[in-house]
Amino acid sequence: MPALEDDFTPAEIARSLARKREVTPLRYGSMALGLAVPVVLGFTPLGAGLVRAAGLLGGGGWIATAALGAVALQLVMLLLELPLSLRAEIVNRRWGLSRRSWRLYAADAGKGFGIGAALFAAVAVVFYGLMRWLPGTWWVVAAVGAAGLVVALSFLLPVLVEPLFNRFTPLADGPLRGALTEMVDASGVRVRDIVVSDASKRTSAVNAYVSGIGRTRRVVVWDTTVEQAAPEEVAAVAAHELGHAARRDVLYGTLVGALGAAAAVCVLAAALHWSPLLTAAGVTHASDPRSLALVMALGTVGGALAGPLYNARSRQVEARADAYALDLTRAPETVVAMQRRLAVLNIADLAPHPLAVTLFASHPPTVARIAQARAWARTHGLPDPPRLSPTGSQ
Ligand SMILES: [Zn+2]
Repeated sequence: MPALEDDFTPAEIARSLARKREVTPLRYGSMALGLAVPVVLGFTPLGAGLVRAAGLLGGGGWIATAALGAVALQLVMLLLELPLSLRAEIVNRRWGLSRRSWRLYAADAGKGFGIGAALFAAVAVVFYGLMRWLPGTWWVVAAVGAAGLVVALSFLLPVLVEPLFNRFTPLADGPLRGALTEMVDASGVRVRDIVVSDASKRTSAVNAYVSGIGRTRRVVVWDTTVEQAAPEEVAAVAAHELGHAARRDVLYGTLVGALGAAAAVCVLAAALHWSPLLTAAGVTHASDPRSLALVMALGTVGGALAGPLYNARSRQVEARADAYALDLTRAPETVVAMQRRLAVLNIADLAPHPLAVTLFASHPPTVARIAQARAWARTHGLPDPPRLSPTGSQ
């Protein structure tokens, strides 16, 4: 069994625990609220009333009702979740993890709301348009459209949305660029450029990722990471990201997401034909855009049910990318040092509860990732990466 004390000092373990105690109620609270608000709005006539009132501001036609109703539902979600979001921001500030000014916090929230509301409104108008124009077969077109939307967003969001939040500059020549270029060349993955994002205006946390598919693919390193991690550790993070590219994880993830979206539309169509649900929502027919709150509730419940499945698969994919990074770098001691540094700088939960892993964790816990690196060293006849405690168990 991997022991926490092998890799973390008592002070680091205590700090992680103290942060976890503060953050856990906020996480579960915002999850419960994110589920409860759509359920209350959608499975009672409350949401239909809200959508109708919003639509009246635009004349009460079906297009205005669908579009303005979508914006109103998003606005209610934003306002009800605001206290917990503000509280989380204050906690992250106190832990030194958030460096955002309140002005930037407001700008981020505003942009996020604008993008989400515009997208939801557009989808709602198309959705109810299809139901009106193709009463018998709308769900087939909607299912294909939902799949296409997932694929389009996966390609477009990094290109269109990332620049709205961050500035990207090419990584300057130096030891880090040298180490990363060497890693990219060794992987054989085609990468357009290695760029640095100005994450430090929001956070002191460290991270790196690969974005884009094919010719637009680039390695993005947060500037915080460049400042705080050793070049070979950043290269080990990049190796993990290249593992995602080499195994086409983004592409397959997008395709599975597209199939999932199509299936979800079919389930939604069946549910919207079930009259007890419509009655509960206070509408007589699904093609009435006042059913939008019910659609949002069904989508939220479906998403909550699919979340743990998605996370379980994601943790497998992440472990595979970790294995790729170990094969590429052949430096388990660097991987252990990097995992240690990520966990300490990000004040990660070092001993997450199994329920928290199931509900929230897209990556394996740090101890599992370190154990994987140690196991790799063992099977490849390399020395065990150094431990903090000399009495560490095997
Ligand atoms: Zn990953």
